[in-house]
Amino acid sequence: MNHFNIEDWTDYVRGVSNPELRELMDAHRAAGCARCERRVDILARLNATARSEKTVEVPDHLVRSALALFASQSSHYEERRSSVPARMVFDSFMQPLAAGFRGQQRVSRQVLYQAEGYSLDLRIEQERDSSQLLVVGQVFDRARPHAPIGHVPVLLLSGPRLVLRIDSNDFGEFQLQYEPTSPLSLHLPIPETLTNIEVNLAAFSQDDEQPGSQQLIQ
Ligand SMILES: [Zn+2]
Repeated sequence: MNHFNIEDWTDYVRGVSNPELRELMDAHRAAGCARCERRVDILARLNATARSEKTVEVPDHLVRSALALFASQSSHYEERRSSVPARMVFDSFMQPLAAGFRGQQRVSRQVLYQAEGYSLDLRIEQERDSSQLLVVGQVFDRARPHAPIGHVPVLLLSGPRLVLRIDSNDFGEFQLQYEPTSPLSLHLPIPETLTNIEVNLAAFSQDDEQPGSQQLIQ
């Protein structure tokens, strides 16, 4: 489930989100995400209280819930930082063995990127009869490979437009599935250091000029 961040939900309950995003968020709610519904509930009540009476004190438990929500995500850090383009340092398709896998039902490609002190391990998979790519990734600090960086936001962008956003788990692992129809990039803003790792996914886009070929291959 791809959740939305707290700033987005705040705009949402105040009715000031951009319509495109609002539509996605409505769909997310309609899909029944309990985590986001809880946020909406708290933020909506907070918003209603703030509107109804400025002198009325917001109930303590509501303030605590709201603070906890905001603490879990610092504010708009994605925009404040500059991106560090990640450099590909390993690609399994460059290995001699790779050709032997091309006839298989599922094509899997392993790539390793580096950006500043971070490494990003990606496995990109595609079923022969599917146009979707599955990306399984893990981000880690090269100086401390055994101390995982958890809860890194992972943003999939098409140009400047946000396609989806997820958070990595406690171990910095994440998984996403997408249709590689437009030039896409992955952005991983590391919370502690303000480094925004940027990975150009163009290398994994479809190549319609080669019908029958495995589209994961450039
Ligand atoms: Zn959600």
